[in-house]
Amino acid sequence: MESTNNYSGNQRIVIIGGVAAGASAAAKARRMNENVDITILESGPYISFANCGLPYYVGGEIEERDKLFVTTAEDFSRRYRVEILTEATATELDRQRQLVHYTKNGVGKTVQYDRLILATGTNSVYPNIPGLRDHQIIFTLRTVPDVDQIRSFLKTRLHREGIKALIIGGGYIGLEAAEQLLRFDIEVTLIEIAEQLMTPMDPEMSLPIERVLRESGAQIILGDGLKEIICKNGISYGITNSGDELEFDIALLCVGVRPAIELAKQFSQKERSALAQHLRHFPRRSHDSSPTPDAKTSS
Ligand SMILES: Cc1cc2nc3c(=O)[nH]c(=O)nc-3n(C[C@H](O)[C@H](O)[C@H](O)COP(=O)(O)OP(=O)(O)OC[C@H]3O[C@@H](n4cnc5c(N)ncnc54)[C@H](O)[C@@H]3O)c2cc1C
Repeated sequence: MESTNNYSGNQRIVIIGGVAAGASAAAKARRMNENVDITILESGPYISFANCGLPYYVGGEIEERDKLFVTTAEDFSRRYRVEILTEATATELDRQRQLVHYTKNGVGKTVQYDRLILATGTNSVYPNIPGLRDHQIIFTLRTVPDVDQIRSFLKTRLHREGIKALIIGGGYIGLEAAEQLLRFDIEVTLIEIAEQLMTPMDPEMSLPIERVLRESGAQIILGDGLKEIICKNGISYGITNSGDELEFDIALLCVGVRPAIELAKQFSQKERSALAQHLRHFPRRSHDSSPTPDAKTSS
């Protein structure tokens, strides 16, 4: 096992995750302290990209791929003097010795920390639907590699007539995906298990969204979930709970995300309680309308 650290004598902050939270934490840390060493470990190939733009890049409303990036690892590293290791996945924390074990290019390494920040974000939810993972034409829409795959898939298909897209989930990202695919000559079907689109909204607020999407050509199925994905004679179908068969050439799985807490689970119960206690007493800004950490959310 190899260690990355060139020992400088400075304190080191290690940040796991390099997108919105991780990159902001690194920039803030550098502004507050010129002398600390900062290392970001990011499992993906990019840091600090604009997740919010991803659906719009799929549909071409954002034309240039470069626009998805707030900065590059090289620029960020130079500007803030941060060591950035992309495609480096933290696998284990050694809390006693203050080490993070991670793998990069298949090689196990360690980095020592004085302060550790977990900014691991979320993972896409994969419901336990038979067949979901067996089909190469079902994509999630959460990362730049996801949209690269979707774009290159569409590129090879768009010249064909009557391409059918199935969007699974009628929340923010499902709706953005539907809107963007409707820019092409694609038959879009969106299935949502709840009785309305956009469940965080009151039902009457979701109706105008539903109407506009239908008027734009989308077929919307509400109150019915996906039970199974099957393939018949080389054609893929989503089978719904009510027995409908939805043929598709491409499907986008937009059923939400879950916190990526695999590493956080390695904290002891005592540390987790201390953290929860700290968050409960964290002062809220008066204009902050987000729920307190211990408040129940609708997710
Ligand atoms: C398609 C899409 C559209 C969105 N649109 C909006 C919007 O319009 N408005 C809005 O406010 N929000 C939007 N969001 C949500 C917003 O992007 C997230 O809230 C934000 O990205 C959260 O940032 P984060 O840094 O906490 O987590 P993430 O963006 O999830 O980043 C966490 C990073 O940690 C890395 N990581 C995880 N585990 C490890 C590990 N063990 N080792 C190393 N690295 C690890 C991951 O690879 C990931 O890159 C959207 C999200 C998506 C996916």
